[in-house]
Amino acid sequence: KPNLTVNDLHVSIEEKEILKGFGIEVNGGEIHAIMGPNGTGKSTLASALMGHPKYEVTSGDASLNGEDLFEMEVDERARAGLFLAMQYPSEIAGVTNADFIRSAMNADKEEGEQVSLMQFIRKIDDKMSTLDMDQSFQHRYLNEGFSGGEKKRNEILQLLMLEPKIAILDEIDSGLDIDALKVVAEGINDMRSDDFGCLIITHYQRLLNYIKPDFVHVMMQGRIVKSGGPELAQKLEEQGYDWIKDELGIED
Ligand code: ADP
Ligand code: MG
Ligand code: MG
Repeated sequence: KPNLTVNDLHVSIEEKEILKGFGIEVNGGEIHAIMGPNGTGKSTLASALMGHPKYEVTSGDASLNGEDLFEMEVDERARAGLFLAMQYPSEIAGVTNADFIRSAMNADKEEGEQVSLMQFIRKIDDKMSTLDMDQSFQHRYLNEGFSGGEKKRNEILQLLMLEPKIAILDEIDSGLDIDALKVVAEGINDMRSDDFGCLIITHYQRLLNYIKPDFVHVMMQGRIVKSGGPELAQKLEEQGYDWIKDELGIED
């Protein structure tokens, strides 16, 4: 089974410590949700795990399927099955969506076992219809001129096509209307299996109405301060974060 383990992670941006002892274990078959107020370091966690150069890991460790994550190059992490959907996906000039996805699918494959064009087309047509996406998206340049909602949908398309082992989805629900939200949730629910573990980062509870997480973690001030089941997300939706701050004696 796939496994992502993070231990006592400390990460700084420009000398300022943002993650202060973050830990989690995500296994195949599990969907974890991380919720927390703005500015607590949720996106920092995602970027640090993917190896963004701006984020300095000062201590702690992380492993992907038993291998030291921070010893792996960024593209190696992806080839080893780690997928990141970002809060602010970037544009890549001159690369079409289809080209990008196909080369990513083939990145970890030997010459002889690469996905053929026919297989690729069949699969992308199928996944795009699941996601209610217009076929023209295949031939548009990656993220160029995509609306916020289109970018999100497109990231879920990448997820369904690449079939990663572990996915980190940062605010995948931001800027989605309710129909798009349902489509995105359906896509993620389709991925559920023992071969897939998922970490959903979200500020709002609403996505979790459609994707039922096995574990919900609350992050504050750079670490997980409380964990529970889906009922924890419900309580946060109803009562906000203040009761946790009170419970733990955390000051703003
Ligand atoms: P969240 O995703 O939980 O809202 P972030 O991880 O985006 O929080 O931000 C955590 C803290 O780190 C904030 O104080 C933010 O201003 C700071 N921060 C995040 N990214 C950068 C960056 N690239 N440069 C400088 N500061 C950053
Ligand atoms: Mg934020
Ligand atoms: Mg964020």
